[in-house]
Amino acid sequence: MMKKIIVIGNGIASTLFVYFLSQRVKEKIEVLSLADDDLFPRCTLKSTSLVAKRGAKKGTPLGDLLTNSFDEVESFFSFWKNKYQSIQRVEVTSLCQKGSKFEEDYLRRFLNQVKDENDFLEFKEWGYLFDAKKILEDLEQEIVSSENILWKKEKEAVVRSFFCSEKEKYTLQCLSGKEIEGKYLFFGTNAYSSLLLDYPLKSEVITGHYLKFQSCNLGDKSFVYNLHEKTFTYRAEENSIEIGVVSTKGFNASLKEDQLKEIYSLFKPIFSKNIPPLEKGEVLFGYRHKIMGRRPGLFIDKKVNQSILMASLGTYKNGFSYNFVLAKEAVDEIMNHWAEVL
Ligand SMILES: Cc1cc2nc3c(=O)[nH]c(=O)nc-3n(C[C@H](O)[C@H](O)[C@H](O)COP(=O)(O)OP(=O)(O)OC[C@H]3O[C@@H](n4cnc5c(N)ncnc54)[C@H](O)[C@@H]3O)c2cc1C
Repeated sequence: MMKKIIVIGNGIASTLFVYFLSQRVKEKIEVLSLADDDLFPRCTLKSTSLVAKRGAKKGTPLGDLLTNSFDEVESFFSFWKNKYQSIQRVEVTSLCQKGSKFEEDYLRRFLNQVKDENDFLEFKEWGYLFDAKKILEDLEQEIVSSENILWKKEKEAVVRSFFCSEKEKYTLQCLSGKEIEGKYLFFGTNAYSSLLLDYPLKSEVITGHYLKFQSCNLGDKSFVYNLHEKTFTYRAEENSIEIGVVSTKGFNASLKEDQLKEIYSLFKPIFSKNIPPLEKGEVLFGYRHKIMGRRPGLFIDKKVNQSILMASLGTYKNGFSYNFVLAKEAVDEIMNHWAEVL
């Protein structure tokens, strides 16, 4: 019988998981994807989607994950760029105003590699900027063209709850009343995870707001500036500028006018007349999932005999890089399980 995996979610975590799976399996397997992106909007499409090292070093679990994730994205980019344009290499400039409360942390992070530029300290590095919509489309194209995946997608499928049935399987209960059984589950449900999953670590939802300006021209190269933990992103291919992020606790969609204005004013003197007036900016927001103590990871539950439940959790500010590691870990887990058990 064909093996079947159920994936809940349609964002970068779930799509990378199915993509990496398609690269590893040697036989045809069925993947059923369930999501409702209207009811649970994808953070993936409301993200400034930059991957940069920003002084991360190995030596702690978080430092290891940050650097390994960066390396994964870097090597992924090196072959992806030959076929697709959904990731680009960009210059990332991190600035810090001299004498500001951010200086100590900034110097610890970038050590003595910073340049002294008048009122600012400056550090430059290469990072990777994703076009979120395009990377999902490109990954989907690769999955669909893989001979090993029979991919079925249900678009308005809300998973309300699930339980372990006596038959050593999980039963997912959908809002429509439909029940779906499966032995292998992957949750890429991000901020909505705590509505469904019972996992041991405390977590919270953090809403992120930012401003997006269209029809801007700052040249033919995309770039990113960081200043005092805030970001300015210029996307040359779409002539847009993104400025943010305002972070607030919980599912908090209300306008963050004052805080966004503050961030806009931070960058305005640097880019002067090149930034459109504040009122031209569209306010966008997405919901992020944060595990207390910044402990993102792959949650694995094997309580049900011969079945596996996995979830990519707490990816918070780094979902575009962590998932390159976590989705691969999830694929390893399932491949090892099949090798041992079946
Ligand atoms: C403003 C902002 C800026 C960011 N900037 C960056 C950045 O610069 N770099 C970076 O790496 N990361 C950044 N992030 C974080 C990154 O965008 C996220 O970590 C990542 O997109 C999460 O992807 P995901 O696939 O896990 O979740 P999502 O994209 O949120 O997808 C969740 C999926 O689960 C589905 N779902 C949820 N619950 C259910 C249910 N009960 N039943 C059925 N389906 C369900 C939804 O429909 C959706 O398809 C930023 C986030 C925000 C908000």
